[in-house]
Amino acid sequence: MTVHKIVCWDCGADVNDPYVNTCPKCGGLLSVKIDLEPIKEMKPKDLRKEPLGVWRYAPFLPVDPANKVSIQEGGTPLYKTCRLAEEVGLSRAYVKFDGLNPTGSFKDRGMTVGVSRAKELGAKIVGCASTGNTSASLAAYAAKADMKCAVFLPSGKVAAGKLAQALFYGAKVLSVDGNFDEALDLARKMADARKLYLLNSINPYRPEGQKSVLFEIIDQLEYDVPDRIILPVGNAGNISAIHKAIQELKEVGWIDKVPMLTGIQAAGAAPIAKAFDAEKIDFIPEDHPETIATAIRIGNPVSGRKALRAIYDTGGYSTTVTDEEIVDSQRLLGKTEGVCVEPASAASIAGLRKLISAGVIDRDEKVVCICTGNGLKDPDTIIKSSPSPIPCKNSVEEVERILSL
Ligand SMILES: *Cc1c(COP(=O)(O)O)cnc(C)c1O
Ligand SMILES: [Zn+2]
Repeated sequence: MTVHKIVCWDCGADVNDPYVNTCPKCGGLLSVKIDLEPIKEMKPKDLRKEPLGVWRYAPFLPVDPANKVSIQEGGTPLYKTCRLAEEVGLSRAYVKFDGLNPTGSFKDRGMTVGVSRAKELGAKIVGCASTGNTSASLAAYAAKADMKCAVFLPSGKVAAGKLAQALFYGAKVLSVDGNFDEALDLARKMADARKLYLLNSINPYRPEGQKSVLFEIIDQLEYDVPDRIILPVGNAGNISAIHKAIQELKEVGWIDKVPMLTGIQAAGAAPIAKAFDAEKIDFIPEDHPETIATAIRIGNPVSGRKALRAIYDTGGYSTTVTDEEIVDSQRLLGKTEGVCVEPASAASIAGLRKLISAGVIDRDEKVVCICTGNGLKDPDTIIKSSPSPIPCKNSVEEVERILSL
């Protein structure tokens, strides 16, 4: 099994208690330190005996694969999106469609590792706060692992498909009076009192699984590293995990180039994009985040400082997009590529278009957009932005008239 330890990302202290989610010394964020020495003896092709997916990268993961709780997460397609590229004026664009994970979002990548860890520790009850997808994912993995599960959702602000999933898999669904940041505070209090094992991305094992999206992209491109990776940023766990994966691949000598990490936020929930704009390494939390893209409707991102470091370290960028731009890009991706993503995921496409227009992205760059969640999670948004079905009598003439044949 991979040798690893938990360290404080801020002060570097070793943290020995598996149930804390912040540094007991300084209150800082935690991070897993993997012993990469054995991997330096390996080559990328040594991993290819396993199918494409999270567990192909087991040497980089802090959980024994013998204990894994898995429903075949990861292994999602990397589409070469030629029509989209032409539409936005780029020579090469790719979409990594993580909406094709078992519960329809990238959260499954972190959850398979996090729940496997919970099982190793003998946890009886797992929990999380969520804008929807984390709870859908945790509820599924808890079912698979035969654990009790409680999820804390901001009342009235969760997309229908996500809520249906959490209920369906048998979690106790608590509709909390407040927004996501407040629901997370409550879940953290329960975890600090050791009443449940917390599986938000502040738990350092979750991001370890989320590293796999970067490993897969590089693997699918035959280790020809893209110039830029664009993704939506909410709580900032994903961009931080991807940065960590890049650092680890560099350290083992499997890549020597680094993609520019480009984080997109919704205009109404943009603490990181604003900090980037002001060239700050820390952000100012926002009290009333608001956007149609509920998965990134977050004002106080837990991993915000990690995200800013990821962006600065890789020469990346951050900006905001409006709800209108998000919905427009969601439709563009559907129309040009046959890919249906949820609004938060479309933020990456909207960001791509905005940054090409602004001259930040060069038209010759090789760009990968990560689309984090499936459009079917949130059918209401799609139906609202689409034309209505056309009433049609049961007659050939009527059809010909409507189709102008
Ligand atoms: C969770 C989520 C995000 C935001 O990811 P963070 O790690 O919180 O930045 C974006 N899109 C979708 C679909 C999500 O479920
Ligand atoms: Zn510390």
